Amino acid sequence: MTAPIPAPADNIAEIQQNIAQAKAHFQMTQAVTLCAVSKSQPAAAIRAAYAAGQTVFGENYLQEALGKQAQLQDCAIAWHFIGPIQSNKTQQIARQFDWVHSVDRLKIAQRLSDARTAELPPLNICLQVNISEEASKSGASGQELLQLALQIKQLPHLRLRGLMAIPAPQQDFAAQRDQFSQVRALFDHLNAHGLQLDTLSIGMSGDYQAAIAEGATLVRIGTAIFGARQPKPSPDTDLASKGAV
Ligand SMILES: *Cc1c(COP(=O)(O)O)cnc(C)c1O
Repeated sequence: MTAPIPAPADNIAEIQQNIAQAKAHFQMTQAVTLCAVSKSQPAAAIRAAYAAGQTVFGENYLQEALGKQAQLQDCAIAWHFIGPIQSNKTQQIARQFDWVHSVDRLKIAQRLSDARTAELPPLNICLQVNISEEASKSGASGQELLQLALQIKQLPHLRLRGLMAIPAPQQDFAAQRDQFSQVRALFDHLNAHGLQLDTLSIGMSGDYQAAIAEGATLVRIGTAIFGARQPKPSPDTDLASKGAV
């Protein structure tokens, strides 16, 4: 059974239009980066998106990402790690990615900084925050966030860029906005303390317009670009089913 290779170019063009329309509609002026989330998609699908001009890709599982990166070495891709981080994976994550969005504790940040080689530019970091305060979801809670951000800011081989959140899915646009506005408030709170964050990584296929209305500077979109994902049984994907995705 071979799955057809998706043709994401049209979807990317449509999403870019939707992003522009949402910005205009809500009178937002921030630049919005589209991060194409390619977990479970083959390297050929990434290559097709790349041929359409897409250069920023997000991956959740280290082993899966390494395999695809090896096949796409000729492409100038900015790789974003957006999945749960096990501490024994930090060394490879720090060396193989340009950004990590899912940092939620100091120990992981320290390990990433230690492993980032000096020849590379600092690793761009977003702190993952837990808005829904569900015990099952990863992410730092609001109270611990400022201290964590100030500590991570000191680490030599990291550059703290902003916040990432995956709020509980909501159908209702106002409810989506309400959750994102809480992330935005934390972002503003950290910047009021001098953190100089420039990246608000919020919004996925089902809610990116609401995220843009609340100031998203980076939206992480998978399904709307590549189509539905095929669940595949592997130790890596088992982690996702524990509530991280
Ligand atoms: C899978 C995933 C996405 C993309 O979700 P879609 O609903 O397919 O757009 C975005 N962010 C994270 C952290 C993810 O794990």
